Amino acid sequence: MIKSFIKENLEGLVAKAYEFAKKAHNGQKRLTGEPYFNHLIATAEQLVKWKLDDICIAAGLLHDVLEDTKVSKEELLKNFGEEVLFLVEGVTKLGKVKFRGIETQVENLRKMILALSQDIRVVLIKLADRLHNMKTLSALPIGKQKRIALETAEIYAPLAYRLGMQNLSGELEDLAFPFIYPEDHRKLLEEVKDKFEEREKYLRKVQLVTEEALEKNNIKPKEINFRAKRYFSLYKKIKRDEKELSQVYDLIAFRIIVKTIEECYATLGVIHSFWPPLPGRIKDYIAMPKPNGYRSLHTTVFCLNGKITEFQIRTEKMHEEAENGIAAHWIYKSLDKKDVLNSMREMEWIKQLKEWHNKISAPADFIKDLKVEFFKDRIFAITPKGEVKDLPAGATPVDFAYQIHSKIGDEAVGAKVNGKIVPLNYILSSGDLVEILKQKGKKPSPDWLEFVKTNMAREHIRQATKRKGLKNKNKNF
Ligand code: MN
Repeated sequence: MIKSFIKENLEGLVAKAYEFAKKAHNGQKRLTGEPYFNHLIATAEQLVKWKLDDICIAAGLLHDVLEDTKVSKEELLKNFGEEVLFLVEGVTKLGKVKFRGIETQVENLRKMILALSQDIRVVLIKLADRLHNMKTLSALPIGKQKRIALETAEIYAPLAYRLGMQNLSGELEDLAFPFIYPEDHRKLLEEVKDKFEEREKYLRKVQLVTEEALEKNNIKPKEINFRAKRYFSLYKKIKRDEKELSQVYDLIAFRIIVKTIEECYATLGVIHSFWPPLPGRIKDYIAMPKPNGYRSLHTTVFCLNGKITEFQIRTEKMHEEAENGIAAHWIYKSLDKKDVLNSMREMEWIKQLKEWHNKISAPADFIKDLKVEFFKDRIFAITPKGEVKDLPAGATPVDFAYQIHSKIGDEAVGAKVNGKIVPLNYILSSGDLVEILKQKGKKPSPDWLEFVKTNMAREHIRQATKRKGLKNKNKNF
């Protein structure tokens, strides 16, 4: 892995950063006993995998020099320029706040969002850094292990998920799992192991039958495989739904990768003609992608011998995006504009991407545009529980309240932003911590329609005031 990175990317700015970081960290060791520099290579490797630009890879190599070596800001600026310095400083700042309960979690999220809105690459470097730290977590003192694992599961994994980086999110969670719940982790692994072995023969049979059926219908899938669910997500599912392992249908799901969207639907048809689907378990995330941009067709069927089995069907591009999310956009930078356009996913909170990706003229502009435009029209505000709500710029506490729940919107009488009371038409900014003050039974005011920014708020206010109007009318009768 390390070799391929050196061979393919070690030139120009990246080569310079490589030598610089190597020298700066010379003699330092990680707690694992290996040279500190290995951590920087691992971080940069990940950024190469995500196909990020040279500035970002250089910053990945240099991300710890300000924090852990004698290198000064000025030196970094002189050698690598403003952009690299900005990224390295951004990553350093993100590292400062530690997970110590809900309050710092919110504070962490705030920092993350602010960094995200300035340059998404800061967060991607931080995620690459965290991934390697998690892989070497067992070398740390026990007390630290749990805190870092929690921080990873509570902040970084959800963040990766939000960026559509499903694969990374799952990997971070699975790395954190044994440190957070060691006993449950051990038990689950044992239980799952038996189940998997038991099912593997059966699944191979299903795979063959599926391949044949598709071939008869002239569908040549690029790939059919089955993969076990991520352990931590499985664990959470069992806990959440109070289920036994045997009751989880999608313990192992089939994944069918085909060439086109038409073939996705055709494949679904073929499967359903063989095996009847379970009602309510067909999900069309192609027509309606998940908020994080995930696209795929899901169905759960009564399969061979009546066994319940899940299938996921998607194109290669969707697969790439599902695995790598936001980083997948860069993968398409070499394709022509139309392909870039088609590959953009409809993340609910980055819909404006759609508007500006028409303007992309050259790959080099891609990152620049992303940096400037990505979050220009959206703000991210946080609930006291640490949930992030994304809203259009200019949104008010009323919009925020309806985003949480219609009842909270209806009963809102005031709001606190970062601990201070503000009027309901206050304009929120990214990173604001918003608490809605309510009064039971209160109805929304039609005046709110003057300042709300989201359709959701507008609809609810209209409905609620209409209802009130009707009631009054009836009284007059
Ligand atoms: Mn680091």
